[in-house]
Amino acid sequence: MYIYHNTDIVRGIVVICHMNQKKDIIIIGGGIIGVSTAYYLALQGRSVTLIEKDNIGADSSHGNAGLIANGFAIPMAAPGVPAQGLKWLLDATSPFFIKPRLNPDLIRWLWKFRSACNEKQMLQSIGILLSLGQGSFDLFDELFAKEKVDFGYEKKGRLILFTSKDSFDKGAATADLLHKYGVEASLLDADGVRRIEPNVMPAVTQGIYCAAYAHISPDRFVHEMLRLAKDQGVEIITETSVSGFETSGPHILSVLTTEGRFIPNQVVLAAGAWSSVLTRNLKLRLPIQPAKGYSLTYKGPSTSPHLPLSLSERMIALTPMGDTLRFTSVLELVGFDPSINQQRLEAIRSSVNEYLPGMEELKQETIWSGYRPATPDDLPIIGRSEKFKNLILATGHGTLGMTYGLITGKLVSQIIAEEQPIIDLTPLRAERFYNANKTHINLPCHIYNN
Ligand SMILES: Cc1cc2nc3c(=O)[nH]c(=O)nc-3n(C[C@H](O)[C@H](O)[C@H](O)COP(=O)(O)OP(=O)(O)OC[C@H]3O[C@@H](n4cnc5c(N)ncnc54)[C@H](O)[C@@H]3O)c2cc1C
Repeated sequence: MYIYHNTDIVRGIVVICHMNQKKDIIIIGGGIIGVSTAYYLALQGRSVTLIEKDNIGADSSHGNAGLIANGFAIPMAAPGVPAQGLKWLLDATSPFFIKPRLNPDLIRWLWKFRSACNEKQMLQSIGILLSLGQGSFDLFDELFAKEKVDFGYEKKGRLILFTSKDSFDKGAATADLLHKYGVEASLLDADGVRRIEPNVMPAVTQGIYCAAYAHISPDRFVHEMLRLAKDQGVEIITETSVSGFETSGPHILSVLTTEGRFIPNQVVLAAGAWSSVLTRNLKLRLPIQPAKGYSLTYKGPSTSPHLPLSLSERMIALTPMGDTLRFTSVLELVGFDPSINQQRLEAIRSSVNEYLPGMEELKQETIWSGYRPATPDDLPIIGRSEKFKNLILATGHGTLGMTYGLITGKLVSQIIAEEQPIIDLTPLRAERFYNANKTHINLPCHIYNN
């Protein structure tokens, strides 16, 4: 046997080996959507290859709040959101920011977002979000019954804390609206809040408890799904970037990567915030913006809450994860810019002190930022592309991709198996953004809640 010592030669051989490899199904992207999809497809006996440009679960699916939301997946009184957003833009410490720039994709996105912020469309969306959330909850139960997995799943609900009557009244009105959809939420006075979470500051005067939440450790969730996918025989290729496609009419013939060319039967696009960058080459315009968010993770304090909290006025989520406590907040439309704004970071730290004691003593902080794949209507894009018959889109999960990972994987497996999907996919098709005659255009927006 001849051993090459020159790494360039070895790399060249690897590239040649990968070139022109035939594959059944290629999934692009190794976040929660990609690994969950890989698992469900492999369960059906399909041969699956997942290609990831970095490492598995390294981006949005890594440092997020880990909430599995099926209750107060809250439509933020959508008609008021643009006005509130404008006010926030003038406040350097607010959780929301748009970097002013003449970017046609961003301008189109903002225009569609503004059109989406009306009551009729918001109400239509609530039902869709709740059915996706319920589908995911059911699939978590199924997963625990079928597989031995541990990613810190706890179903304790979520407590929303209020320090002002005005914001509580708005929260109560939302609870009332959601009640019509069957969502149960309890309105609490100061004593009621303390019965659920004794360690809150005197400034907290009211709360809303919603049972239909679970929480997980996101990184462990992704890696458990990866393990299950691998056990089912999924091929995982990391540190390999998809750079383009070769097409013929309505078919993708090949997927071009930094390690060569792959020839698939079907392609699933699960590249999160990068999905619209990739589909440019296909002349398929997906309105997805990277919506950057921050998280700060601390070694758990003795006064750590025992269930996830939402600090309503400050738009901050607090999630206990094992022996750590994570704060998440901020939505910045700044493109792919990983820098962290220190003023906004400081605003998160100081705001938490208004709600909980002992927070200033927290140590061992990890600061992280990631890009939510945001669509203008805050609904994901799930479905077979109309333009390319062997392309399935599974992207645009915005603020709730951890919640919708399992259900998206299941739905994609049903699309590929040509089974009836467990949820009507019509309002989730990409064509809703540019083909008004062929789909119902449901352009709502729901609350940015983490
Ligand atoms: C601060 C914050 C808090 C959040 N909290 C919650 C929460 O509590 N609950 C919830 O449900 N959701 C939450 N989310 C949203 C959730 O994290 C995302 O919706 C979800 O992680 C998206 O998963 P994904 O697999 O689509 O994308 P990602 O995890 O970003 O994965 C996409 C992958 O595609 C890869 N990729 C991109 N381009 C290429 C290419 N050319 N070739 C190969 N690979 C490529 C990327 O490297 C990446 O690994 C939060 C997000 C943020 C930022």
